[in-house]
Amino acid sequence: MSTDAKAGLSTLAIHAGQPPEQVTGAVMTPVFQTSTYAQPHPGAWPWEYSRTHNPTRTALQDCIAALEGGSHGLCFSSGMAAIDTVLRTLSPGDHVLCGDDVYGGTYRLFTKVYARFGLRFTFVDMSDPDLQVPPGTKLVWCESPTNPLLKTTDLAAVAQKARAAGAMFVVDNTFATPIYQRPLSLGATAVVHSTTKYLNGHSDVVGGVIVTSDADLAERLAFLQNAVGAVPGPWDSFLTLRGLKTLAVRMQRHTENATAIAQWLSGRSDVAKVRYPGFSGMVSFDLAGDLDAAVRFVKATRVFTLAESLGGVESLIELPAIMTHASVPPQVRAEIGIADGLIRLSCGIEDLSDLQADLERAFAAAAG
Ligand SMILES: *Cc1c(COP(=O)(O)O)cnc(C)c1O
Repeated sequence: MSTDAKAGLSTLAIHAGQPPEQVTGAVMTPVFQTSTYAQPHPGAWPWEYSRTHNPTRTALQDCIAALEGGSHGLCFSSGMAAIDTVLRTLSPGDHVLCGDDVYGGTYRLFTKVYARFGLRFTFVDMSDPDLQVPPGTKLVWCESPTNPLLKTTDLAAVAQKARAAGAMFVVDNTFATPIYQRPLSLGATAVVHSTTKYLNGHSDVVGGVIVTSDADLAERLAFLQNAVGAVPGPWDSFLTLRGLKTLAVRMQRHTENATAIAQWLSGRSDVAKVRYPGFSGMVSFDLAGDLDAAVRFVKATRVFTLAESLGGVESLIELPAIMTHASVPPQVRAEIGIADGLIRLSCGIEDLSDLQADLERAFAAAAG
């Protein structure tokens, strides 16, 4: 079928960018595993080289763009490559205002790589209603909900402040997914995702995407995508397209499980504080007790796998202070509230009773 942009998100996830293949009518977009394309006349073919364009990647780009309500999608070989590409639109001396508990890899890219090239970064609490965007700022970078503290930001309000300051406003929508939040409709200039997480959803691909409706920005990003070359291969694009088809039902189940687990954790005396934004599958909580107790906890689970990453069908558990956020300096972690005993859960889509029994076992081990 052909889809119009007004179709529902479940329909778009399955059909957008993926009309039946023209030669055979194959319902599933083929893996166009090729680096180059035969040209009938020199330069007279829309497909020339797979760094520039590949039909499997194009289908994925168009599908995610439709889900985010944007007109242009650009896929990359990782979420970091997508974020890196946004930063490459800036110039030395430019100022970036960034949330203070963004993904650890984003913080590392900004402070360890781009600061050396003369970009200036200020880290602030994006969820603060009194947030100020200094005039002349070129980019406002926001994650909502944040990782790992799951703070949410009023994106429409920040979009307005960014626009008034003349800044691009880019939202990392990895945790919410377009099922729960569509930043472009709230005034964001562009949206990025680590497609590694919920969009692919099966923990078998690393990838990233940028979506925008700003044609001029899209052209600059497409130039960089080709010029720099951090593109996903056709096979990874295919797997991500396949995973994407079930996004809506997966997110519903992630939310059901996470909601129940957050409520159950809140009622326990051995939990100091639970953070859950009310949608999607991420739950963070402070275990009452020290780092050793938290380590015993995360080593005791059997259904929740001790691993970094998130957003797959299987449940994962981790300790941000020594895993995903180890690259954030300890005093910065302390300032923003990432305690040593903070445990982050990525609630998968297994049976809730099995997940709860597993956590129950971990509480016993932590008390040990
Ligand atoms: C994982 C993640 C990234 C980085 O993406 P990769 O695919 O691992 O390169 C960026 N932002 C958020 C919020 C993430 O969770």
